Amino acid sequence: MIEYENLYELNKRFAEEYRCKVGEVLNSGQFILGKQVKEFEDSFAAYCGSQFCIGVGNGLDALTIALKSFSFEYGAEVLVPSNTYIATILAILNANLTPVLVEPDILTYTIDPLRLEEAVTKKTVAVVVVHLYGKCCDMDGVLKIASKFKLKVIEDCAQAHGAKFRNKMAGSFGDFGAFSFYPTKNLGALGDAGCLITNDESLNAMSGMLRNYGSSRKYYNEVAGINSRLDELQAAFLSIKLKSLNSINEHKRKLASIYTNELKQDFIKPVTDEDFYDVYHIYIIRHPKRDQLREYLLRHEIGTEIHYPIPPHQQKALSKMFGKERFPLSEEIHATTLSLPISFIHSESDVRKVVEVMNKF
Ligand SMILES: *Cc1c(COP(=O)(O)O)cnc(C)c1O
Repeated sequence: MIEYENLYELNKRFAEEYRCKVGEVLNSGQFILGKQVKEFEDSFAAYCGSQFCIGVGNGLDALTIALKSFSFEYGAEVLVPSNTYIATILAILNANLTPVLVEPDILTYTIDPLRLEEAVTKKTVAVVVVHLYGKCCDMDGVLKIASKFKLKVIEDCAQAHGAKFRNKMAGSFGDFGAFSFYPTKNLGALGDAGCLITNDESLNAMSGMLRNYGSSRKYYNEVAGINSRLDELQAAFLSIKLKSLNSINEHKRKLASIYTNELKQDFIKPVTDEDFYDVYHIYIIRHPKRDQLREYLLRHEIGTEIHYPIPPHQQKALSKMFGKERFPLSEEIHATTLSLPISFIHSESDVRKVVEVMNKF
């Protein structure tokens, strides 16, 4: 069986180092906002070429805290792609703002700057772009519109650790880059974790307070914050794995190039472009008979996933809010997309096996 992912196998090669670190943290007696968190924040900021990093509880909180840091007016509009994972939209709602969905570019699956501009109104205050599947958005296009309409820019980098656009790291273009370290992500913890990066000193101070009850000095609360702190153990695990992030990304890029070069043309494959360094958190193809293809692959002992089966506007949780609005591109993507095995645990021969079976479909 070629599994879609196996988190035990994925973490096995780091297990010895993890065990050592557990001992070190236990002996330190410091479990919240201590040395491990500080060390990880510093090294992740440096990795991303960003000045500051604030560790938080998870990716959803990273996005929520970023949006809260600006103190926007209640209900102000925030543009967001219609084909993102629901967390991006929930963060906007958590921050008491109004999500406005924008259809993506059908080739790259990322935000379409032309449609972005069309969606701007007098109430628009920000855009949350999503570097989906590990490909950066066209940040030139996004930043031009943002500066024309004075919009804040938050990058959802949950799928894009180490991805680049014109040699610049995902997360370092906008006001904030928001990361998730959910275990399956390219940089994954052994539980929930996340962070924000920014180059703005005051946004860094504000988000640092918001994650910790709105406090920067113990028992003095300046704003109404939340509790979403990265914990010492997760930070320690992440520091260990960060050293391998470049090799994880390179490995996934190698596997992706095999799929892209060797899969037959019946499958719609991800586009590549020399301006974009894609890290393939997910490798998707599209096919009109997606469900049959998935079953066929399973019969041949190949596990796949669907990211995601239902578009956000049709989720029960959001369907009232978006009512009868139609997002045909997003619907088309969700109906035809299939994610192929592309983990650090997979070998080139695993991927060639998948290609061989798929090319007979
Ligand atoms: C994983 C993910 C999130 C949420 O991260 P959590 O750590 O699970 O809260 C947000 N946005 C995108 C695009 C994601 O893939």
